Amino acid sequence: MRQPLVAGNWKMNGSRAFAGELVTALREGVSALDRVEAVLCPSFVLLPLVAELVGGSTLQVGSQTLSEHDEGAYTGEVSGAMLLDFGCRYAIVGHSERREYYAETDRQIAAKFAAAQRHGLTPILCVGETLQQREREETESVIREQLEVVLAHVGVAAFQKAVVAYEPVWAIGTGKTATPEQAQAVHAFIRHVVAERDSEVAEQLRILYGGSMKAANAAGLLAKADIDGGLIGGASLKAEEFLSICRQAS
Ligand code: PEP
Repeated sequence: MRQPLVAGNWKMNGSRAFAGELVTALREGVSALDRVEAVLCPSFVLLPLVAELVGGSTLQVGSQTLSEHDEGAYTGEVSGAMLLDFGCRYAIVGHSERREYYAETDRQIAAKFAAAQRHGLTPILCVGETLQQREREETESVIREQLEVVLAHVGVAAFQKAVVAYEPVWAIGTGKTATPEQAQAVHAFIRHVVAERDSEVAEQLRILYGGSMKAANAAGLLAKADIDGGLIGGASLKAEEFLSICRQAS
């Protein structure tokens, strides 16, 4: 049985005061849920504060990216070891905004995935197609390629301690959500690609949906067999929205 996971990607939003209010509003409600695992992914600068604020609750902390390098002369970068040291347990890798705005490649994302695991963090690997790719019926080939570069780099066994997030680029921050049927079809395909290498790893792999998920549309998505939770952007900045998604996932 896969434990549902709901992760909030705060992106480049928030302040110390905002983090204090949001975590205070979430702590009790999330801790009362026995099935779901909830993770908050603030910006690097807020991460130590959020890690402190969640102490004593069941909330976990994750980063939005990390360096593929372990230490040294990489100005502006943050390593997996630093993140672990500050209470981080998860690291998002390959978010479409990193791929698009910072030109992260599949190979670099594979290296970041490996770096996260080297330092004891669980990577949340994002994959997803653009609208143009969907219209050209390239969804499966794009997602297969994104997964296979990482699988080839780290090996399928590494997916025992990883999470995959299906995030159709056309649904991120646009208000357009994939229908539960569209999302389920891609989630089943992701599981199939992993199962081609190891069916047991595929069976226990948690696959999250991300893309304009909110309280009002979560139930239909979470009811699908291969959707094990959500990666939430905009709605994770509102306590009631995020809590409601966590409740629906639990
Ligand atoms: C995201 O950026 O991971 C995301 C899913 O954003 P939103 O929920 O705002 O579409």
